[in-house]
Amino acid sequence: MKRKKLIAGNWKMYTTAASARDLAAAVVRGVAANQNVTVAVCPPLPYLLPVGEILRGSRVLLGAQNVYPASEGAFTGEVSPTMLLDVGCRYVIVGHSERRHILGESYEFIHRKIEAVLAAGLTAILCVGETLEQREREETEAILDGQLTSALQGLPADRLERVVIAYEPVWAIGTGRNATPEQAQQAHAFLRSRIAELFGKVAAQAILIQYGGSVKPDNAAALLSQPDVDGALVGGASLKPDQFLAIVAAAK
Ligand code: PEP
Repeated sequence: MKRKKLIAGNWKMYTTAASARDLAAAVVRGVAANQNVTVAVCPPLPYLLPVGEILRGSRVLLGAQNVYPASEGAFTGEVSPTMLLDVGCRYVIVGHSERRHILGESYEFIHRKIEAVLAAGLTAILCVGETLEQREREETEAILDGQLTSALQGLPADRLERVVIAYEPVWAIGTGRNATPEQAQQAHAFLRSRIAELFGKVAAQAILIQYGGSVKPDNAAALLSQPDVDGALVGGASLKPDQFLAIVAAAK
């Protein structure tokens, strides 16, 4: 099955209102001709609306970096899936290692977020990945399995149509040290095999599994040419339009 690759930019807590608009406009201009790849950007929350205005009518989709698992309520400072949908988001990143490790998000909380995001009709980009110590202890597959199964447990197989997995080894995020294409392929094949066991072969063949962790123009083509690598979640390089667009071009 041919899966259309997804390149998503995670702008993290960077940009200003003005630079976010400029960055979005540059991405829109640059991807116009590239029909074979899905492209999304995930700006900081305050810039979702202005960036969404710039993306309107373009091929670039809007994503958010975080969400709270309730449709509304007394949750000061939080944002609901329906609010994200309302401002034009298609995607939301869930389970990013910075939220797991810095903000202390638990497996159970991530599972609730996935349920809420899917119930609202958004697509979740579920991040999973091992730390360096876990890799060195040869626990990578056990960690990936635990993160994957706890996040997706109990979902009907058709809900997987709106789940994207991002394999993001923690040791590769923001470090300049990417996984090798072989390491990425091995992890992605494992994740796909677990999806097949949990949700069936059809869901496993259809699901997109992105790689994330120091993706740059010079390593993107090798990573993206692996059979089970269906795109990239890009942090640092997504803040530089020429680099992000070169990664998009490498996904063709
Ligand atoms: C990320 O934030 O998901 C990420 C992969 O960051 P970077 O590309 O900077 O490693």
